[in-house]
Amino acid sequence: MSLQPDTFKSLVKAAAEQVIASALELTALDQAIGDGDHGANMKRGFEAVLSKLDTIGAQPLDEALKSIGKTLVMTVGGASGPLYGSFFLAAGEALSHDRTLPENLADVFGRGVDAVSARGRSHAGEKTMLDVLVPVLETLKTEAGRPDLIERVRATASESMERTAPMQATKGRASFLGARSIGHIDPGAKSSCLMLHAICSRLEEGV
Ligand code: ADP
Ligand code: MG
Repeated sequence: MSLQPDTFKSLVKAAAEQVIASALELTALDQAIGDGDHGANMKRGFEAVLSKLDTIGAQPLDEALKSIGKTLVMTVGGASGPLYGSFFLAAGEALSHDRTLPENLADVFGRGVDAVSARGRSHAGEKTMLDVLVPVLETLKTEAGRPDLIERVRATASESMERTAPMQATKGRASFLGARSIGHIDPGAKSSCLMLHAICSRLEEGV
């Protein structure tokens, strides 16, 4: 079994549409602890991905993921553009080296997470997107094969996103606020959670 091109396209479309529809909410979160551009940044990037979706969907999966990564690097901007871009570039790179989806999902996702961490010189606990991506990776590793894996990923994503609120940011723009960053959900944690939820929902619908 391998991930079919139509399934892949449908999952990317679901994630992109969710991010675009949530632009105002992401902006509001970034207004509280950043500069208020996360929603616009992500909307611009994922509109660019959607506009190329037919071309991207016709590529082999590794190339398709790399194309998404390059598009995000070129269009999102801010700190999150290179970080999300690195995620997809590294995931695509992992697939170019003998890995397949869905069989090696945790491994491929892990390569993406490692790339964000390397690029951002960051790790979980600093109130960033990694505070969602790292726990979700852990769930993918430990609960692979369980019938309720999708539900577990969804719950991990929302719980870990909520847990960024009481954290003090030590990376990114929010870290400039020091203790004043406490009490707000991190915008990048929210955008990661939204994309994961959209993918989970589409998978549950049977794509
Ligand atoms: P900018 O901060 O440049 O305005 P965005 O607003 O688009 O960029 O993205 C902000 C998000 O990027 C943060 O909420 C955080 O999740 C993420 N982020 C920022 N710096 C880092 C980092 N070093 N490592 C991981 N994620 C980061
Ligand atoms: Mg910002």
